[in-house]
Amino acid sequence: MRPWRATPPYTGRMFKPRRFQYCPTCGAPCEYRVPADDNRERATCTACGEIHYENPINVVGTLPIWNDQVLLCKRAIEPRYGLWTLPAGFLELGESAAEGAARETQEEAGAQIELQNLYTLLNVTTVGQVHLFYRARLLSTRFDPGPETLEARLFSEAEIPWDQLAFRTVRETLTRFFEDRHLNRPFALHSADIR
Ligand SMILES: [Zn+2]
Repeated sequence: MRPWRATPPYTGRMFKPRRFQYCPTCGAPCEYRVPADDNRERATCTACGEIHYENPINVVGTLPIWNDQVLLCKRAIEPRYGLWTLPAGFLELGESAAEGAARETQEEAGAQIELQNLYTLLNVTTVGQVHLFYRARLLSTRFDPGPETLEARLFSEAEIPWDQLAFRTVRETLTRFFEDRHLNRPFALHSADIR
């Protein structure tokens, strides 16, 4: 599985991945130009003319909860090795966002969950990603972390390692959760732009 990329320190810059140097179809060089009837530059093959579109990627995950504690995973892979994250990863073709979130939770933490509502929708336009976190109810406190995780454990709010979180979207999701809980609010969807 591809590692979930960290947010690079771009500020105020448009994300221009320019991923295609060569045409995946025929192998000839691509160049970025604006196709007819389009309004932005696309990777266009200089030989076969095929246009290769690049669009944001979905990262899906869960906020697993056990009483007043949440489950975090310590990353065993780069980027952000050794930092703590909610279980999450890239959505795969053929699965729904909810299915992907449940799969990642199983793969990274080996946690048994009951998936609940979509809780945060976070646009990370600087890296061309949308992060979606579902709340999840843990059905047991036995975890079986996969190879991408050094350790999976529960944290109370006071124990959250705020300065050792791997991603800003994880921080945002945890912040909203504890805020909602303190204010006794229903855990409705939060949407935000992370810059
Ligand atoms: Zn080509």
